[in-house]
Amino acid sequence: MRTVDDLEVAGRRVLVRLDLNVPMDGSSISDDGKIRACLPTLQALIDRRAAVIACSHLGRPAGAPDPRYTLAPVADRLARLLGRPVGFAADVVGSTARSAVAALRPGDLVLLENLRFEPGETSKDDEVRGELADQLASLAGAYVGDGFGCVHRKHASVYDVPARLPHAAGYLILAETAALRRLTSSIRRPYAVVMGGAKVADKLPVVNSMLGIADRILIGGAIAVSFLAAQGHSVGASLLEGDQEAARDYLAKAAARGVNLVLPTDVTVAAEGSGDAPRTVVSVTEIQPGQMVRDIGPQTAGLFASELTGARTIFWNGPMGVAEIPGFSAGTRAVAAALVDSDGFTMIGGGDTAAAIRRLGFTDDQFGHVSTGGGASLEYLEGKTLPGIAALEAECAVPAASSSRAVIGQAGGGGKVRDTVVTEPCGRP
Ligand code: ADP
Ligand code: MG
Repeated sequence: MRTVDDLEVAGRRVLVRLDLNVPMDGSSISDDGKIRACLPTLQALIDRRAAVIACSHLGRPAGAPDPRYTLAPVADRLARLLGRPVGFAADVVGSTARSAVAALRPGDLVLLENLRFEPGETSKDDEVRGELADQLASLAGAYVGDGFGCVHRKHASVYDVPARLPHAAGYLILAETAALRRLTSSIRRPYAVVMGGAKVADKLPVVNSMLGIADRILIGGAIAVSFLAAQGHSVGASLLEGDQEAARDYLAKAAARGVNLVLPTDVTVAAEGSGDAPRTVVSVTEIQPGQMVRDIGPQTAGLFASELTGARTIFWNGPMGVAEIPGFSAGTRAVAAALVDSDGFTMIGGGDTAAAIRRLGFTDDQFGHVSTGGGASLEYLEGKTLPGIAALEAECAVPAASSSRAVIGQAGGGGKVRDTVVTEPCGRP
């Protein structure tokens, strides 16, 4: 994969796809981790005198402008973190974006409005996506992909634009894929995987593929409930998604392959509808009707911590309980502490897991790598092809002349920008 270091950017307009899909609380940003993760690539492009056009999605607007999902607050935060002005275009490829882009000088940065205000961004129709990709590509002379959190999406700005412009991967994608490679090849063993969280249907297949790779798999969160039910335990009023047939199948596979699949022995429960109180610890054999499993219990937390001792590689996805509520965060805290104590390589994936550890007072530098992409890292580990990575690895298929319109040349002197038609090979400069 070509890196941003290899891309000729000075005096050129460079479109950078980022993942600035930060959690919002009304119009304020509740966690700016994803914005911070973009800074190295943006700073390098600015330092190298590129005219930077940043773009991202935010939330799930329905393919039309929706003020609830504007990226305007993100532009402000970006300006504060970079310590320099950041322009903001109030549309994606409309007249505002075009004039903002035309006014860029080397070292300037503009953020386009939410890509998902355009229906073409997420369309399943190649032609519809292609039309938006043509418009986006016409804004720039080169493309940098650095939105790791969306590389598993076949979206116009992720998949179709890099086919139309000379392209390279940014530092975040390089760091994320380098960390993930440590979990897929030349793995230092024992390799322990901790799975939790609530998206059971998404996560069961990951447990399945991990059965072929990991030495031990510890299961908490709502997925544990599916496994407990599959073992024949009553799970009361707990969140029970996903099919227990699959869970039963994985238990059998783990036994056959000698993989240590570790399930909770005790759980913290709450009465249905009681919110954060009152809570009780019960053995998994004694969950009563009307009780909901909300966290792993203290005995299980100790068991998980001891299973993690001595592991030389640990991957963790999904909180052990409803960690947003302090009374149900002990299991998540115990697993985080076990990772911090580990001498092995530790990686955390998953938006809610990362947010939970930060809320509990841990910092990213206490772990080997905290991924910005939950779904993307899980799909990578499952061995799926990620469209956004495949597009960056592919050579640009479009003839040179077609990317020439919006390439800006260096003016004769003074670093001023003017529009020139530049023809160049589409690919490594
Ligand atoms: P991530 O974003 O890290 O991949 P998920 O989105 O899968 O994690 O899951 C996070 C959610 O799982 C949290 O909102 C948490 O409250 C919920 N959760 C964890 N354990 C349970 C449980 N036992 N019952 C219900 N919800 C749970
Ligand atoms: Mg989540």
